[in-house]
Amino acid sequence: MTIIGHLIGGESRTDAKRTQDVFNPSTGEVSKQVALADTKTVEDAIAAAQAAYPAWRNTPPSKRAQVMFRFKQLLEENADKICQLIGEEHGKIAHDAAGELQRGIENVEYACGVPELLKGEHSRNVGPNIDSWSEFQPLGVVAGITPFNFPAMVPLWMYPMAIACGNTFILKPSERDPSSSLFIAQLLEEAGLPKGVINVVNGDKEAVDVLLTDARIKAVSFVGSTPIAEYIYSTANAHGKRCQALGGAKNHAIVMPDADMDNAVNQLLGAAFGSSGERCMALSVAVAVGDDAADALIAKMSTAMKPLKVGAFSNKDNDFGPVITAQHKDKVVGHITSAEKDGATVVVDGRDAKVDGFEKGFFVGATLIDGVTPQMQSYQAEIFGPVLQVVRVQTMDEAMQLINDHEYGNGTCIFTRDGEAARYFSDNIEVGMVGINVPLPVPVSYHSFGGWKRSLFGDLHAYGPDAVRFYTKRKTITQRWPSSSVREGVSFSFPS
Ligand code: NAD
Repeated sequence: MTIIGHLIGGESRTDAKRTQDVFNPSTGEVSKQVALADTKTVEDAIAAAQAAYPAWRNTPPSKRAQVMFRFKQLLEENADKICQLIGEEHGKIAHDAAGELQRGIENVEYACGVPELLKGEHSRNVGPNIDSWSEFQPLGVVAGITPFNFPAMVPLWMYPMAIACGNTFILKPSERDPSSSLFIAQLLEEAGLPKGVINVVNGDKEAVDVLLTDARIKAVSFVGSTPIAEYIYSTANAHGKRCQALGGAKNHAIVMPDADMDNAVNQLLGAAFGSSGERCMALSVAVAVGDDAADALIAKMSTAMKPLKVGAFSNKDNDFGPVITAQHKDKVVGHITSAEKDGATVVVDGRDAKVDGFEKGFFVGATLIDGVTPQMQSYQAEIFGPVLQVVRVQTMDEAMQLINDHEYGNGTCIFTRDGEAARYFSDNIEVGMVGINVPLPVPVSYHSFGGWKRSLFGDLHAYGPDAVRFYTKRKTITQRWPSSSVREGVSFSFPS
């Protein structure tokens, strides 16, 4: 059976005392094994990244950008293969995988502009014959730890900019779907990156803990679930590292009585059930304002959900694929059952989804639940499945209070035709990414991505301008070249 290994110092390695099964979620069968790096393997990767750092740091930014231009081209040329690898191990359909890859490529495009982004700041004559400037220097060896749900895009949020800024990088992808992350990193080497600048170690907690504690790692970017994000952030900080740790989500959409209901329903379908709801920006709660809006929403949604097709990744006509593992399917089904037990109504039930020819696949059908209340466990938890829960409230303020009280604050959206309401919403909602009639307000690559509250630990968001700041440290130089004809006096007061 194929063993997915590591990329260390430009060499592929499959040595591992431990391995883990990688499933094809559409068939439910084990398709590959992934090597789980031990401490020694991760230390080898750190040593390779450290050895590559001095030369890469001193490579002109324009030369580093040229590698990114070639990388972008290789990503586009290999798009079909990448989408196939994503589909085989994650289960998402090719059209969805292509969207993920495209959003990743846009981060490479942004990194191509690194000479401009690193230009720094300059002030002439801050004092007599004194000039001062700030420049942004790389940190050294930095690491990224990524989740299963975007195996191509989320790593591309991190290392193109980290590397373009002059750092060397170690990626620890999700052990559940590691092949596309590894293949993409190999393409970056093919684009002309010197060996050791990008390294990939596959593994689990053992590998992560080395990255969090080894003094040679200067910064850690993490994307994954909130309990792990919190652990990563506190451990990395305790070891003196810069850290940004993006966590889980529970994204609400407010459906106002004046909303264009047909449009809102179409948008909600894709945002709730696309990628089986396994997106940190998935809309998983619709908050309907007023019973008329709620009744209309439920009626139109349940009709619109009838033709939705869940199925294997290999059929491009399917709307969405399986969830990632059998255990995750049980968890999603458990949440639907708990909502029902707590008194909610399962209007459309995907628990018994069957796909002909793929009977062992990890499928959950699109599910709609009405009458959900904030006390229910299914409301509080991140379900991460194709489940849309509807909460009924009477006022917009009540709807906003629900969102502001929730522990997560990743994304949100309001469906309305009222500009004043929309502006009030975006001004006062305690969420990092806000959509006005835009269900998945994922910022473009030249803005930055990040939630509030327990959806992000750290100060800087992912990718975009914040990534340039995250992956560099500011140095401010103050310079004077006194004239040899001037004799300088002594001063003990603070320079002003
Ligand atoms: P996860 O937290 O289980 O795993 C993420 C990474 O952490 C993986 O590489 C994994 O190997 C590692 N990891 C897992 N347990 C660990 C431990 N005990 N110690 C050290 N490392 C550990 O997340 P997942 O299930 O792969 O991904 C889904 C989650 O990611 C969801 O909660 C989703 O909302 C979140 N997510 C958030 C964003 C965002 O931008 N906020 C984006 C994508 C996904």
